[in-house]
Amino acid sequence: MTKLEEILRDNNEFVENKEYEKFSTSKKPNKKIVILSCMDTRLTSLLPSAMNIKNGDVKLIKNAGAVITHPFGSTMRSIIVSICEFDVDEVMVVGHYECGMCNENTDEMIEKIKEKGISEEVISTLENAGIDLRTWLHGFDSVEQSIKDTVKTIKNHPLIPSDIAVHGLAMNPATGKIDVIVNGYEDK
Ligand SMILES: [Zn+2]
Repeated sequence: MTKLEEILRDNNEFVENKEYEKFSTSKKPNKKIVILSCMDTRLTSLLPSAMNIKNGDVKLIKNAGAVITHPFGSTMRSIIVSICEFDVDEVMVVGHYECGMCNENTDEMIEKIKEKGISEEVISTLENAGIDLRTWLHGFDSVEQSIKDTVKTIKNHPLIPSDIAVHGLAMNPATGKIDVIVNGYEDK
C-alpha cells in the first residue's frame, strides 16, 4: 500500500464514521490568536495540547524554524490576513529548543541537495544569479535570538497595527514547557 492509499483509506474511515463532528467550528479563531511555529514533528500534537488549543481556537502557521525570511513573503502575509480578515489581535511566535534550523550546516545541506540529484551546474547558476544559497538555507545560531528577531520583524512591519501584541515563546520539545522570551504586552 502506498502512503497515499493509506491516507485515503484512513480518510474514508474518518468521514464514514463522522469523526469530523467533534471538529466543527468557524473560520474565525476563538482565541483571536495567530501562532507562528516550527514544522518540527515533535510539536505536531504536543504544541496544541501544551497550549490547550482546540480546533477553531487559533490560526497556526508553520515553517522550518518559526521564522520570517522575507517581510513581504507568505508567512508575513498570513499574519496580516489573520489580523485584518479574522479578527486576530495577538501574535505568538513559538520557537523551540533543539530546533533543526539552529546551527544548520549549509555546506552539508548543499551536499545533500547534490546527492538528491541536483547538479552542480544548477547550484552555480543560482549562485551566479545572485542567490546566496548558504545564507538562505542557514537558519539561526540561537533560538532565543531568532525568536526575538522574528518578533521584531512582525512588530515593526509597516502593515501591522501598533496595538497588536507580539509575544516570543520558546517551547521544550519534550515536555511542552514554555519560556517567555518576549512579553508582547510590555512593548505595545
Ligand atoms: Zn524547529
